[in-house]
Amino acid sequence: MAAGALSGISSPLQAAIGADTAAKDAAAADCSTALPFSIRKLLNEATLQTAKGARVVVVGGGWSGLGMAKYLKIHNPAFDAVLIDKRPEFISFPASNSWLADQINLDFLTHSYIDAAKAHNYQFLNSTVLGFDRASKKVFTSNGYVNYDYLVLAPGIEYDYSRIGVDDPESQMRLYNDYPGGFVNSSELITIKRKLNTFKSGTFILNVPNGEYRCTAAPYERACMAAAIFRKRRIRATILLLDMNAEIRIKKQGFEKAFSSLYSDYINYLPSAEIAGVDINNKTISTEFDDYQFDDAIIYPPVRASSLLEDAGIANLKSPQKVANTDPFKYHVVGDEHVYVTGDSRSQPFSKGGHTANSEAQYVAEVIAAHALGKEVRWRSPQTMCFSAVDINPLKAMSIITFYKFNPQAKEFQFDRTHMMEDWNTEGGQASLAWAEGMYRDMFYK
Ligand SMILES: Cc1cc2nc3c(=O)[nH]c(=O)nc-3n(C[C@H](O)[C@H](O)[C@H](O)COP(=O)(O)OP(=O)(O)OC[C@H]3O[C@@H](n4cnc5c(N)ncnc54)[C@H](O)[C@@H]3O)c2cc1C
Repeated sequence: MAAGALSGISSPLQAAIGADTAAKDAAAADCSTALPFSIRKLLNEATLQTAKGARVVVVGGGWSGLGMAKYLKIHNPAFDAVLIDKRPEFISFPASNSWLADQINLDFLTHSYIDAAKAHNYQFLNSTVLGFDRASKKVFTSNGYVNYDYLVLAPGIEYDYSRIGVDDPESQMRLYNDYPGGFVNSSELITIKRKLNTFKSGTFILNVPNGEYRCTAAPYERACMAAAIFRKRRIRATILLLDMNAEIRIKKQGFEKAFSSLYSDYINYLPSAEIAGVDINNKTISTEFDDYQFDDAIIYPPVRASSLLEDAGIANLKSPQKVANTDPFKYHVVGDEHVYVTGDSRSQPFSKGGHTANSEAQYVAEVIAAHALGKEVRWRSPQTMCFSAVDINPLKAMSIITFYKFNPQAKEFQFDRTHMMEDWNTEGGQASLAWAEGMYRDMFYK
């Protein structure tokens, strides 16, 4: 790959960093003395512990990256696994809707990358990845570059505001700050909790995006938790749930029953509400058919794969989510068995869920360990497990577990062995927390 494919780095510097010739080394020297110190720092190698084995750099310490780093070391203890994340600590999205409604505290969701790395014997680098170069096998971070033998990209998703008619970057920024969606960054969750706890009266809009968005059930679950909070606070409010899909996408009967039996005074569910624009000044959301005024809102736009993939020139820009061109069974970038894409950034249409990402990572870690030995492993499906809180005090939840299979006739992945539990109850509520606790234990502790 050309050095010009690096993201977030100016072109003279790109030329310098990607160089493997003497001429380019000279250019690097010239260029680096002319650059301010903060930029020159990027040319240095990031400080890590020296290790002997092949280095596998994992970009993104979410549910995918944490599983990946741990299982890489299990499948090949000699690997020098390095997990890089820009966040200083991990705050879980799964179970966060229960936190919004005060069913658990923030400690339950918060975990330390230092503990995870220590427990599973890999290195953690708290840094932002700016780009990577496949020719020189370098990842560029805000702490300097890191060499790799294998690279796993698990950076998650980004919002795509252009798909709800907001194209101008400044308006996108304002929309994000005023009405965060709560699906990418944990600060969004804290803002949302404050909003739900201070809302006085009127219309509060939530929406469900279309396409393959993160956690299919979570926007419906969040509407239930928001209604439970308003009911507990005894405020007069309407939650207008604008669904950009023709009907409830998952656990349909369960959510329909919850909306009608528990929250008919609060939730007004509107399907086929394709958002076409947002007038931030006048607090109005437009669909093809109508305009909806709101007093406050949580706006969750459709999503796309991390732009790191696009910036590095490995994304298929024709795909709606700008996913990478990867082998659907082995996850590596087509033509490069040293670079893998996993988790919610993946190209396969598996449910964008933490459990899916984590179980998939366990398999891909095995694929990479086998590749290093010149071997192959048989494809196995990720597993999706998703709990949805429906009521509180005590917490009640429903769930779905599913696998996937590849249909060679249709040439697509389909659901396989699905177990749906749409009757929510307190056992489901307890199970939702026990599941999350078990996953945190697996990712962070011995
Ligand atoms: C409210 C809510 C409820 C949910 N409920 C469930 C549930 O019940 N069950 C379930 O299975 N899933 C659930 N999910 C979905 C789950 O959170 C995601 O599917 C999962 O987090 C995806 O894992 P990932 O590793 O691909 O991405 P993430 O967990 O988002 O991790 C990506 C990581 O990459 C890091 N990163 C990105 N770019 C860079 C960069 N340039 N440099 C350094 N680091 C970078 C980010 O900081 C982040 O830590 C829920 C999500 C939400 C929002």
